[in-house]
Parts: sequence; structure tokens; C-alpha cells
Amino acid sequence: MTTAAALRDALGDIVDVSEAALEAARADSSGHRSPGRPIAVVHAETVSHVQQTMQIATSTRTPVVVRGAGTGLAGGANGGPGEIVLSTARMDRIQEISADDLIAVVEPGILNAALNARLAEDGLWWPPDPASRNISTVGGNIATGAGGLLCAKYGVVRDAVLGLDLVLADGRLLHLGHRTVKGVTGLDLTSLVIGSEGILGVVVGATLKLRRVVTGERSVLTALFPSVRAAAAASAAVTASGAQPAIMELMDAASLAAVHDLLGLPQPVPGAAQLTIQTDGPAAAAEAGLIAATLQTAGGDVTVTDDADEGAHLLAIRRAMHSAMAALGTTLIEDVSVPRSALPAMFDEIARIEAAYGITIPTVAHAGDGNLHPNFVFDGPAVPESIWAAADDLFRSAMRLGGTLTGEHGIGMLKSRWLAEELGDDQWQLQHQIKQVFDPLGILNPGKVFSRA
Ligand SMILES: Cc1cc2nc3c(=O)[nH]c(=O)nc-3n(C[C@H](O)[C@H](O)[C@H](O)COP(=O)(O)OP(=O)(O)OC[C@H]3O[C@@H](n4cnc5c(N)ncnc54)[C@H](O)[C@@H]3O)c2cc1C
Repeated sequence: MTTAAALRDALGDIVDVSEAALEAARADSSGHRSPGRPIAVVHAETVSHVQQTMQIATSTRTPVVVRGAGTGLAGGANGGPGEIVLSTARMDRIQEISADDLIAVVEPGILNAALNARLAEDGLWWPPDPASRNISTVGGNIATGAGGLLCAKYGVVRDAVLGLDLVLADGRLLHLGHRTVKGVTGLDLTSLVIGSEGILGVVVGATLKLRRVVTGERSVLTALFPSVRAAAAASAAVTASGAQPAIMELMDAASLAAVHDLLGLPQPVPGAAQLTIQTDGPAAAAEAGLIAATLQTAGGDVTVTDDADEGAHLLAIRRAMHSAMAALGTTLIEDVSVPRSALPAMFDEIARIEAAYGITIPTVAHAGDGNLHPNFVFDGPAVPESIWAAADDLFRSAMRLGGTLTGEHGIGMLKSRWLAEELGDDQWQLQHQIKQVFDPLGILNPGKVFSRA
């Protein structure tokens, strides 16, 4: 019996071998596709479905690619020939919300925005806010260690998960972590699994750490600067001033021009870069005033609004970046992080790389936490070697500045060849050995993260 037949025998209709399902499972939102179709997509609806799939995969030594909504940008959820794609998207129930303990227990397939819409009814909130929050799953957010616009103030996924239920490669179910605020019993395997990109096990449940919805007004500031370096230096000055904006986003001239074009807005002054900053909480207006003064001293042309609609409109300009890039061609959305004080130097490096390779690299940054998204735009489906050469230069520049290869999108298949360079051989080996303890047969997401090819 083939593995697909064994899956259908055990699990019935949730095993999908239709051409459309197999084709869709070949790619995530990175645009990168696997070389061919996987053998089946299993739409798990229960923990038992996941366990049975993994037991069959172990007994037949068949690789398994776990998948949430497929919005990842590192190729981590792409299923290829000979592989089972195990989707947790249908496991989307909320099992518990406790306002007293500020926790929610959820299945992995619930969409981030759907969860937050339900939590808002109780005045609660799960802070991680990837720009993909309307379309990405909480399980995918956990497996990638996702961040977002608000994370400089409210933290990333790693700060907002207390415990995880994990199905191992052989089908055993583990309950990691705790539901208490404190807890240091044993090794912190919850933290190990966050950001592990489907290579250690299948997340089938999560105990999330909630906050109460922030009350008070919100102020939104925009500041235009004559150059991206000046904008980056101003954002570093805001951080150094001790102010704590909830959002601090930087758009360089090329991204600002592309978004204005897409939205039909008047074009900004050529070369101008913009910071968009939001303050919140009871002291929002006072904090906005202090930040405005810092921005003006740094040479910015500043506007401030307390009007909710106008604030949302200003932030919508930043949120339209992905669509603006998609309108220009195929995009490799990169994701490097540097210490916040190194942001101006990283923009100098990007300018150097643009000149060296004769390309424009529209770049936005979560400036509040030093996380940059340089966009490489090209024609055709595959990333040309010249673009990889420029990206290689970019990654090395970030590492030289004390930064890291990925701030929030993960390694997946697209960055695995650079991983050893950042980790060093000893740490690469140690991490790989940890992967082997969880998955001795190497059937979970092979070729991702720890591939040196
Ligand atoms: C328009 C757009 C904007 C984005 N903005 C952001 C942003 O602001 N911040 C950010 O961090 N990311 C962003 N992303 C990237 C992406 O949305 C996130 O990485 C998201 O967390 C992926 O969730 P997903 O459900 O789509 O996971 P998938 O893409 O399906 O999977 C991602 C990885 O997680 C693994 N995985 C998924 N589910 C499980 C599970 N249950 N158990 C174990 N492993 C699992 C997969 O194997 C894969 O390695 C953006 C993407 C798009 C398209």
C-alpha cells in the first residue's frame, strides 16, 4: 500500500490528493516553489489526526511538512515530492479564555486576527501583530517566532506564550511549559519550540499570555527627512531618549514613492524618507509631544494627530508596502535585524549594495527594534543569482554590524546556507543534534533550516 493510501485508510476524507491541493502546498508567500507536488495534504482536525499522521510517517519513513496558512516568507511550509503536507489550519478552536489569569488556550489553526477579535469582546488582547495577522495562523506565528509593528513595546511571540502541546515525529504528545506567570521547572522546551519552523514537532495547542486592551488615546506622528540616514538617526535618537513608542516604522524613499503610487497619493519630495510613530496609553499625547521635539531636533518635518481616522490612514501607508512591492514585480522580502543604534550604518550598507549591484532595494524597517525588510524586486518566478549575490552581501553586512540573518521570518529553505556562518560550526552541530533528539529519523521538514546546500 502506498503512504497516501495508508493515510486515506486511517484518516478518510481529510486526506486530500487533488491536483489543486497538492499544487497549492508547493509554495508559501515567499514565491519560492518546491520542485514538484507532495504526495498528500492531510487537513488535521484533531490532535489524534496529527498523531496518526505522524505514526504513519514514522513507520513508512515519509517526510512531513507542517503547514498553517502558508503565508510564511522563508519557504518553510513548502511541500515537495515524496512528502506529506500536514495542515493544522482546520484546528482553529479556542478552548479557554481566562480573564482572571490572562491566558487563552487555543488550537494552532486559529487566525491571529480571529483570535484577537474574540479576545476584544472580553477587553483582552494577544499582542503579536504580524502585518499578516488577518491571514496567518497562531501556530504559524509560534513556529516562526513572528513579530510585528507593535513588538518594540509589547513584545514578539516569544514573550507571549506560556506553554505548548507538541506532537513528536513518532506521534507522542508532550505538554510543554505551564499556565502560571512564573515557572522554571526543567529546561525551557516551550522557548525551544518557538521559532523552530516545524522541524522539532507539530504544535497542536498553545497556552497564550494575554494583556488587557490598552486604554486611553493614541497619537500618530509622521516625520519626513531629507535622507533615509537622517530618518534612521532620528529613530535611534527617539529610542535613546527613553520614549517608548508603540509603533515606530521607517520607510525609505523608494518604498514611500511606491506606496504613494499604489494609493494614488501625491508623490513625496524625491529622496525623502519617513518615520511613522504611534504612542498609546494614558500618556500618549504627552509622549507624542516629547517625541515630536526629538524628531524636530533631528531635522524632521513633523505632523502629529490624535484623530483616530487620520492616524489609521497614516499607518495604512506603511501597511500597504507589501502590495506596493507586489505591483512592481516578483519580490524577495528580506528580513535582517541590527542593534537599534546600528540602523543608520545598516542603511549606509544598503546604499553601498544598491550602487555596487546597480539595483534599487526599497526598504522598510520596524525601527523601534532595528528590524529591516529590504525588498529585492525582479522579473520572473526564480530569484536571479545576481540578486542572491546582493542579498548575500546584505546578510554579511548585518552580521558585521552585530545583527542577525532574520528578525522574524525565519530561516526556512531560503536562508539555510547562511545559518552556519552566523552560528559557527560548533553551535550549528549542537543545534542539529538537538533536532535529531526530537526527530531521530529526520522526517520533520527535511531540507529546511539545517540544510547546508
Ligand atoms: C503580507 C504579509 C505580511 C507579513 N508580515 C509579517 C510580519 O509583520 N511579521 C512576521 O513575523 N511575519 C510576517 N509575514 C510572514 C508570515 O505571515 C508569518 O511568518 C506567519 O507567522 C506565518 O504563519 P502561517 O500560518 O502562514 O504559517 P506557514 O507559512 O504555513 O508556516 C510557517 C512555518 O511554520 C511552520 N508551522 C506552521 N504551523 C505549524 C504548526 N502547527 N506546528 C509546527 N510548525 C508549524 C511551517 O512548517 C513553516 O516552517 C508576512 C507575510 C505576508 C504574506
